[in-house]
Order: sequence, then C-alpha cells, then structure tokens
Amino acid sequence: MTRIRRLETETRRKIAAGEVVTRPSSVVRELVENSLDADASRVSVAVEGDGTERIWVRDDGHGMDSDDAALAVERHTTSKLSGPADVERVSTLGFRGEALPSIVAVASLELTTNDGGPRGTRVRVSDDGIETAPAGRARGTTVQVADLFYNRPARRKHLGSAKAEFARVSKLLSRYALCHPDVGFSLSHDGRETFSTPGTGWTDALLGVYDRTVAGQCTHFSFAAGSADGTETGVEGVLCYPSVTRATRDHVHVAVNGRPLADESLRRAVVAGYGSLLPSNRAPIAVVSITVPPDAVDHNVHPAKAAVAFRDEGVADRVERAVADALSTADLRRSGEVAMDLDATLEPVEGESRLADASVIGGFRDLYLLCAAGDELLVVDQHAAHERVNYERLRAAVGSVPSQAVDPPATLSVTPAEAALVESRGDELRALGYDASPFGGGTIRVSAVPAPLGRTAAPASLREVLATLDRGGERPADARDDLLKEMACHPSLKAGDALSAAAAERLLDRLGACDQPYACPHGRPTVLSIGEETLVRGFERGNTRFG
Ligand code: ADP
Ligand code: MG
Repeated sequence: MTRIRRLETETRRKIAAGEVVTRPSSVVRELVENSLDADASRVSVAVEGDGTERIWVRDDGHGMDSDDAALAVERHTTSKLSGPADVERVSTLGFRGEALPSIVAVASLELTTNDGGPRGTRVRVSDDGIETAPAGRARGTTVQVADLFYNRPARRKHLGSAKAEFARVSKLLSRYALCHPDVGFSLSHDGRETFSTPGTGWTDALLGVYDRTVAGQCTHFSFAAGSADGTETGVEGVLCYPSVTRATRDHVHVAVNGRPLADESLRRAVVAGYGSLLPSNRAPIAVVSITVPPDAVDHNVHPAKAAVAFRDEGVADRVERAVADALSTADLRRSGEVAMDLDATLEPVEGESRLADASVIGGFRDLYLLCAAGDELLVVDQHAAHERVNYERLRAAVGSVPSQAVDPPATLSVTPAEAALVESRGDELRALGYDASPFGGGTIRVSAVPAPLGRTAAPASLREVLATLDRGGERPADARDDLLKEMACHPSLKAGDALSAAAAERLLDRLGACDQPYACPHGRPTVLSIGEETLVRGFERGNTRFG
C-alpha cells in the first residue's frame, strides 16, 4: 500500500477541477470508489432519508494508519498518483485527492479506519479542525457523512424527493455492483436492505440487482483483441438473451477499467452487437466491462469522471464485435426455454413405483434428498416424504399405535369443550396412542402419547388432535383420518435435520413401500423429477457442434 502524499502544483493543474459533490449520490460514488480502490471485497452503503441526513459507506479494504487517515481529509492528498506523469495512466478510480475534502466542505464527516493493526483511528472533521482518536475497528474503513449541504441551502433546494434521491443512489450502486461482480455490495434505506449482491460473479450479481428471470437467461463472455498500435482491449461480461429486454438502453451497463460510465457510444456499440436479434425499439440487459491499458484512456475529461476519452478509436468497434461473437455462439432460442422455469423442468412423479431402483446421491440443505433413478434425477422433499410414511404407518397401526408413557404426566390447560371431548372420545384417543383424562380446574393430564416410527409426539400435540376431532363432527371415520394426517404432519414426527446416509436410504425405501408414495397426506408432491433431457438442453449438449 502506497502512502498518501500531497500533490504538487504541477499535478494539480493537470487535474480537471470541478464541483465533485452535487447530490447525495455523488457522495456515495466517491466513497464507494475509494472502497474499491482499497481492494474491498464487501462494500455496504446505508442511506437515511434523502441522503442529506446521513450516509454510511463501510468496507473491508486495506484501511489507513492514523497519519494517513488525518491526511486523507485534506485537499490534494492522495496515495494514487506519484507525480504529474501518472495523470495520464490512472489505474485507480480516484486520483485527484479531492473527494474527502470536497465532502468535508459541505457536510460533517467521520472516518473510522484500521489498516490491520491492533487498533484503528477515528477522524472527525469539524469547524474546529481535524480531531483524531484511537478507535476499535476491524481492518477496513467506514465513512459517515451527515448534514450534507447544511451550509449550501441552494444545493439543498435543488434536490428531489427522498425517494428520487435514493433512487439515484440505488441506480448508481447497482451499476458498481454489476461491474464489480466479485465484490459483494449491499444497500439499505432507512434501515431496510433494498438489494445486495454476494460477490460471487456475474450471474449472482444480476440476480441481486434484477431477478431470477433476468439472471436465468444470460450468457457470460470474455474477449480480447489487440489493435495495430499494440494496445490490448479486453471485453467481458454478461449478456441477457433477447428474450428479456427493456424499453431503454438504461440497462446496458458499461464500465471502463472498473468505472461504470453513462457513455452512449459504448452503449450503442453493445446494442449494435445484438443486431437483428432484438425486437425493434427494445434494448437488452447487459453488463460489459472493458479493460484497456491505463494510458489508453483518459479519465480526466469530466469533472465527475462520468465520461472518458479513448486514445484509440477502435474500442467501440471491438465491443460490438465481442458482443456479436458471444451471441452467435450461444443458442438463444433454446437457452431461452431452459431458463430455470420450475413448472417446466420439474415434474411431480406419479404412477408405478419409480423409487425401487432409486439410490440416494446426497442431500441439499437438509430439506431435500437427491436421488438417481435411471435417467432421471429425483428430488425428494424430506418432510413431505416423512409425512406420507408416517401417515400410512399410522393408518395401518390404528388401534395399536405404539405409545410412550409420559412420566410424570403432563398437564395441559384446556377449554371446557376440549375437556368434554377428552372424556367422550377417550377410546378413539387411545386407539391413536394417547392416554388423557380430565384433571379438573380447566386442565387435563396426559400420561401417554403416540410414538410411531421411533419418534415421540409432544403432549401438546393433543390440542391439535382435539381440534380435529371437534371439527370432524358427525363423521368419525373422516375425523380419524384428518387426525392421522394432522399427527403425521406434526413437527415432532418430522425429520428436522440432516439425515445420515443410512437414514436417507431407509426413508426412500419406506416411501417406495407406501400405497401412494408421490404425495404427502395433504396432496402436495413428495418427489419431483428432472429428466436427463432437461440437463442435456440446459448444458446445450444437444448442440450439433458438440454432438
Ligand atoms: P483520491 O481517491 O482521489 O485519492 P480521496 O479524497 O477520495 O482522493 O481520498 C484520499 C486518500 O484517502 C486516498 O488516496 C486513499 O489513500 C485514502 N482513502 C480514502 N478512502 C479510503 C478507504 N475507504 N480505504 C482506504 N483508503 C482510503
Ligand atoms: Mg477518491
């Protein structure tokens, strides 16, 4: 990490000066760029109200020691330029040493930072000067900006509603999140998280910023081209299929050397790469990240760094070609279908037993068993399977449901109507494995509970049983069946956690032995299947090029 230094006059003169902070979103932009320059892997932003009240940006980057922290808030101090020549080859997002002092000029700023040492530093800037003190903090930096434009009433009047200003922040941060997919971002407004990305690549970033439909229909690409003068242009990113489009080019996200830009010529180049694939008047959703050598691009042409100038004319052409190439190799029509449409790809299993030849491959999230069965992948809902097995076993065992003594007996408080049921339906309850009797004073005593399949029902489950008996009214058979379903689904009878491999196989066997293995007692599916065909299509192995 380079130390912060004061820029000499010559360097300062070369830097495009201008007003850096014009609204809350410009504060966020500058602070987030500092976090990215500090190699953060997580950046969290929180905004209160329209952003003039308070903004926090927290990162886990390399932080600063106490000397640098105090210097950082002064004018023309930066760790990113070592001399005037560097202005022509900037590889960081910041370089002017202006952001923090510009914020200090219009707001109150508090910076807490730690460069990995035993303790961190807090810097507060007020009219009285710069005050530093030791502070506890893990490695990284938090900057809190409050009372933005307290001394600039005209600026403040110029701002939109809280909703509009926050929308700008949200749009801005989502651009950074999309263009830096390996960094996790999160944004919250008035304490509520509005989006987050995990920092695990393009698809997950699209999922965080957009939704499943968008993230499920995209293709990644990566392209490198040299030009006559030897400069390398790298173009990579993610392109959504033409089956998902938007009305404007706003969702074409372009970044140059990590800086998202609202550059119309680059956006047009991306859209041109889609060519005739797009319906007329529609624009794609795409993230295109362009990398050129630092000296091939001038970031210093716009005070807010919203535009760049390329020293090489061919960049837009190369972007268009990269996009066109990527789309011509993706089989778009088919890929559109393969987007994880749960209805189409997961079929509930029914009919004759397909479980006899199934074997458990593993589990997913302690909720699902994954099983191989011929050319199908079966997904078994562990809870639903247990419910079906419990239900059929209970049904078979009525009259001799294994019972477990409750010692000492449990006392339940009940309504007079429930107490009356315990008395009048005692035989039915015993057939189900309960032993209960009125105890007086609005209570009953439960001295035995059902213990089917090695699991013991909780005494309180009797309340639900009574409620079901009550509902059953005149038709005892239905009431009993409802009761069995209720009991089969009672949480205390369900597997809640990880099954051992042997237990998983056993569950699958038992499910296979059921009269109706493919639905839980309430009629929901227990097993879904994904045919090999779906995977073939999904992985585009049907593509003739690969046979
Ligand atoms: P610039 O980014 O143009 O250098 P700034 O005023 O934004 O200027 O920041 C001044 C200096 O403070 C930076 O050069 C950097 O060394 C340090 N700095 C600012 N923010 C952070 C941060 N989040 N993590 C680590 N260092 C930071
Ligand atoms: Mg900066």
